[in-house]
Amino acid sequence: MIRVRFPSGVQNERRRTFRAVFLFYFYMDNEFSSTLLENAVTALTRFPGIGRKTALRLALHLLRRPEQETDGISDALRALRHEIRYCKRCHNISDREVCEICASPLRDSSTVCVVETVRDVMSIESTGQYRVLYHVLGGVISPIDGIGPDKLELACLVERVNDDEDVKEIILATSPTVEGDTTNYYIYRMLSRANRSVKITQLARGLAVGNDLEYADEATLARSIMFRTPFEG
Ligand SMILES: [Zn+2]
Repeated sequence: MIRVRFPSGVQNERRRTFRAVFLFYFYMDNEFSSTLLENAVTALTRFPGIGRKTALRLALHLLRRPEQETDGISDALRALRHEIRYCKRCHNISDREVCEICASPLRDSSTVCVVETVRDVMSIESTGQYRVLYHVLGGVISPIDGIGPDKLELACLVERVNDDEDVKEIILATSPTVEGDTTNYYIYRMLSRANRSVKITQLARGLAVGNDLEYADEATLARSIMFRTPFEG
């Protein structure tokens, strides 16, 4: 058997590294003197992007705060989980049966923007440019992930078009992905069989504002040329 001998300095370095790694895992396994603290840390690690060390820091921070404040945080989370509702018309998150957007008389009720998630509604709303109504699908068709049309709010979109005479245009605002395109095509086919015909549009796809042309990928650049618009000086 061949033994590799490191110079003593290197061996010391390896020993220190091994000791640090050993202590780290020992500490992580044995750091909690309280099961309650351990439970809180484990619960906090369920948040995306929160590791065990960050969770411990958050838990210790909460312990230092006034009881009233930590009660407020847990009450808000409990209420969020148990009391939040989904709008019966657009499936956006809401406190009532019909969300504020659907209930607003200031909205353009002739246009319904179809999006994947509640976050997409927030993104479009943050532009402050459009006062349209929405329809939240709850995702996109993705056979690989086991998401078929029956798992999305698709059938009720057709019902909405059939029942609401005000709706004149459907904007397909799903992500520019294979799944998004598949979903758009599915919606297009469904709406072509609806009782009423409506205009169906989709978001323009092309170059991002502020980016140099050389950094655009081929697909984006090709689409930008295909869907070029007249220059309006
Ligand atoms: Zn709504």
